[in-house]
Amino acid sequence: MPQRPSICVIGAGLTGLVAARKLARNGFRVLVVEQHSTAGGTLSSMRIGHEYLELIPHHLRKNDRNMISLFKELGLFDDISWFDSYWYGRAGRKKLGYPERGFHTLISALTQEITDGGGIIYYGYTALDISLVCNEDKDTYQITCVLADCTSVLIDCDDVLFTGSCRNLAHITHSLDLPTDYRDSLMDVTYRANMTLLLVTKSPFTGCFSRPFDEDHYPFQRLIQHSNLVGERKYGGHILYLSGSFQTTHPMWTQSDSEVFKAYFKSLQKINPTILRSDIKTWRLTRTRYALPISSPETSISTPLPGLYICSLAMISDSASAAEYRMDSCVSMANDIADQIRSNRFPVRPLSSVANIDYICS
Ligand SMILES: Cc1cc2nc3c(=O)[nH]c(=O)nc-3n(C[C@H](O)[C@H](O)[C@H](O)COP(=O)(O)OP(=O)(O)OC[C@H]3O[C@@H](n4cnc5c(N)ncnc54)[C@H](O)[C@@H]3O)c2cc1C
Repeated sequence: MPQRPSICVIGAGLTGLVAARKLARNGFRVLVVEQHSTAGGTLSSMRIGHEYLELIPHHLRKNDRNMISLFKELGLFDDISWFDSYWYGRAGRKKLGYPERGFHTLISALTQEITDGGGIIYYGYTALDISLVCNEDKDTYQITCVLADCTSVLIDCDDVLFTGSCRNLAHITHSLDLPTDYRDSLMDVTYRANMTLLLVTKSPFTGCFSRPFDEDHYPFQRLIQHSNLVGERKYGGHILYLSGSFQTTHPMWTQSDSEVFKAYFKSLQKINPTILRSDIKTWRLTRTRYALPISSPETSISTPLPGLYICSLAMISDSASAAEYRMDSCVSMANDIADQIRSNRFPVRPLSSVANIDYICS
């Protein structure tokens, strides 16, 4: 019996996990490599009090059709509650959805299905190089991963799906024979970084759910009082997020976490001078280097090499706004690329040719 084709999925964010799950279900031997010690990427969570909570605020909308289908497929749809949101200066027009136990359950269910389907997820594996190995019978890919202790591991596979930033793909494919203009188009995609400060406070900072701030006067552009939407739960306090989007040339990007905390807190005091440092029970700063693509590739960035695939935020659309770089679009892209990979490896024979063969045999 021929061996199942193998695929290495680089990145265990939502896109990588959704694609890996589908590929495992479609008969691939799946290996996922993730540079961090947990899955989820931008949607990662940590334990706050007795709950899991996202490090960066995430909520669903009613028209997130692909996300809602995913929750249904995983048997988690009943976990989603829909809330009225109160925005600063205006009532929220749309209900926002949030899972009963946070998005952590979605990420866990995806990783569980991948491993149940025979897939393996390697954490703490940073893909540093992708090369092509030419064998007598077929060409395969080899991924060099570096681990936390600086040792390296080689992974051999038939196909590769990369789900990180376009720039990172350009950096790790120097061993491959990619056309220069293709590599340039990957490097031309620019991104804004994000620094989100998660605060657990003794009392709510504001009565609304979300409030925007002007980039010229504040280091963050959005305040989200998550516990005003979903309630206090068992977080052990009120949850406030301050989300700032930056060019990496901004001096704050290179400051230490405590310096960024101080700058964000100073601005909070400007908004409401009654808040004290002692009102904050705990805080955590999360930096995302490639948070938001701000330019789209001029040409298609589908890779020109057979068996090497990319599924990256920047591919969402030429005219995408920040609102479109949502989880829903990632799930849709991940499902499409998994279908494409499957049909390249297992082409369906046209019915007419099947009929002809039957005729010849009889
Ligand atoms: C501030 C902010 C708020 C948001 N709020 C919402 C929201 O409310 N609703 C919504 O629908 N969407 C929201 N989004 C968007 C949503 O987070 C993303 O669309 C989605 O999480 C992207 O998933 P991804 O898997 O494509 O990318 P990522 O989450 O970035 O995952 C990529 C993964 O690949 C790994 N990786 C990269 N390179 C390598 C390598 N060389 N080797 C190994 N691993 C590698 C990374 O570590 C990461 O885990 C928000 C985004 C931001 C930045």
